[in-house]
Amino acid sequence: MAKFIFVSGGVISSLGKGIACASIGRILESRGLSVTLMKFDPYINVDPGTMNPYQHGEVYVTDDGAETDLDLGHYERFTHARTTRFNNVTSGQVYNSVIAKERRGDYLGKTIQVIPHITNEIKDRVKKVAEVSGADIVIVEIGGTVGDIESLPFLEAARQFRLDMGFDNVLYIHLTLIPYVKSADELKTKPSQHSVGTLREIGIQPDILICRTEKPLSSEIKEKISLFCNIKKEAVIQALDATTIYQIPIDFKNQILDEIIVSHFHLICKYSELGDWEKSVVEKVLSPKNKVSIALVGKYITLQDAYKSIYESLIHAGIYNDTKVEINRVDCEDLEKSNPHKLLKDVSAILVPGGFGYRGIEGKIKAIKFARENKIPFLGLCLGMQCSVIEFSRNVCGLTNANSTEFRPKTKHPVISLLEEQKKVKDLGGTMRLGAYPCRIKKKSLAFSLYRKEQISERHRHRYEFNNKYRKLLEHKGMVFSGIYPKANLVEIIELKDHPYFIAVQFHPEFKSKPDQPHPLFRGFIKAALERQNKLSL
Ligand code: GLN
Repeated sequence: MAKFIFVSGGVISSLGKGIACASIGRILESRGLSVTLMKFDPYINVDPGTMNPYQHGEVYVTDDGAETDLDLGHYERFTHARTTRFNNVTSGQVYNSVIAKERRGDYLGKTIQVIPHITNEIKDRVKKVAEVSGADIVIVEIGGTVGDIESLPFLEAARQFRLDMGFDNVLYIHLTLIPYVKSADELKTKPSQHSVGTLREIGIQPDILICRTEKPLSSEIKEKISLFCNIKKEAVIQALDATTIYQIPIDFKNQILDEIIVSHFHLICKYSELGDWEKSVVEKVLSPKNKVSIALVGKYITLQDAYKSIYESLIHAGIYNDTKVEINRVDCEDLEKSNPHKLLKDVSAILVPGGFGYRGIEGKIKAIKFARENKIPFLGLCLGMQCSVIEFSRNVCGLTNANSTEFRPKTKHPVISLLEEQKKVKDLGGTMRLGAYPCRIKKKSLAFSLYRKEQISERHRHRYEFNNKYRKLLEHKGMVFSGIYPKANLVEIIELKDHPYFIAVQFHPEFKSKPDQPHPLFRGFIKAALERQNKLSL
């Protein structure tokens, strides 16, 4: 039977609960255990797919085509867990399914209530993930902060879980903040005492407290936390601010957090280190030999979380190339109004990410033209590929006003357009081309030299596609269509000849990169950036 860990958060949001959960997963894997991770999101939306990036940050897509919370990205990057649509549970999904059951008459005339109907539905979803994944340990991150009205049913379900499954099979971890007050030169434990107090009112006594802090916790502070929060001293874990998130599993391991968890569950597993993680990941991030500067030309650049997986993928490729990747965030709307030379001339490479809507598009197209003409390494992702097609059609093939029908429905040259089946779609939620699709790669292409195989699978999230009516013309003018989804003959990868590195893809490679397994497209991109950087500094 699986063992279950519920992780709640206290005091403030943005403490890095997702990274803490992912790191716990990693250290448990080091003990030979298999893990899976899931996220409870207390909002009423069914999924984050229809939310604005300012509301939610990146939407992470799983192989099975679910639009999920970006924390699932951390889970997949840190561990071997492969998440599916079952790994992200929202209040919207829970209520949707309870109401559908009620309408079907499944509850046989009962009054439908938060306890037990909503809480049962939540618990069933956790059990389902345990069953489908077959993992030894299921780690459940409870979104929000203790004290929120919205997360109460999830916490209540977590409380009941220990009752249902047995004390030793369930563990509660609370992530909290120990603020440092400069004027008093002191770390303060009071907010954590309150937050644990609130949890206890709900009926949950945490077994482990993970304390985010900017200063190390002294033995006295740990004792105080232990006494007031009713937690064993060794289970008060310090989570000191770190230069890289990939340091966190090491910090946890150094405080034998894995051992504390394993012994709570009475599991017998051999001690083992984190393997290569420290040498081949953390040391490389902290002391790289080289440096490149990548321009990320996007719309949501002020938002830390909007391009989360892209930023991480760039770091991974940097690890592989022993290179610090500095990201120069360029607002595509600023670029619309200015000379690209001013904003882009010193960069080692240019990346145009995905997005929706016309705002800023002409700036992205300008950046792509600049990369193409000046032979600056370029990587286009999803909308980035669509913009590359528009740019090439307009400026190389002479198709003035070529566009995507997303931006100009009546454009004379719809080089990017909707497939017939998409034209019939009315609902916005969950109706794009979503999840993993196979792609066949042309031999003797840049894509083949990067992937070194002919069959790949990558994750998608878009509605519009390359319009095959224009394929011949663009090919004739030098565009290479090096990746195709064979079943529907859809263009997945484009590249340019006579350019050091110009590649753009209809899918999202950033969802499959890991620190110890960087994605080939990002790896090649940073290598090309480095080569340009070296040339520039000669
Ligand atoms: N807006 C484009 C589409 O729907 C691209 C989407 C994206 O970049 N994820 O096809």
